[in-house]
Amino acid sequence: MLRIACPYCGERDHVEFAYGGDATRRFPDLGDPDIDRWAEAVFIRDNPKGEHREFWQHQHGCRQWLYVVRDTVTHEVKSVVPAREVPALSAPDRAEAA
Ligand SMILES: [Zn+2]
Repeated sequence: MLRIACPYCGERDHVEFAYGGDATRRFPDLGDPDIDRWAEAVFIRDNPKGEHREFWQHQHGCRQWLYVVRDTVTHEVKSVVPAREVPALSAPDRAEAA
């Protein structure tokens, strides 16, 4: 069972949350016309084994977006912080944010 410790509500079962995607995913600039870059950013996903950075929304709680570091093998949640507190998530250094 996956449990996520929401910084606002406390530890809750994952059914209260919605997965919001890979937090390391980078998208092209909005004005970028390259269809291949957009197709890769939108449709191609990695399937990492081990530590992974993800967005989750506490939909059935405080509705806040969270930045979660989770092990994809054990489902151990290693850290949870409000997404707004993680600097530069939309910048190229997203992968370094933790
Ligand atoms: Zn919450």
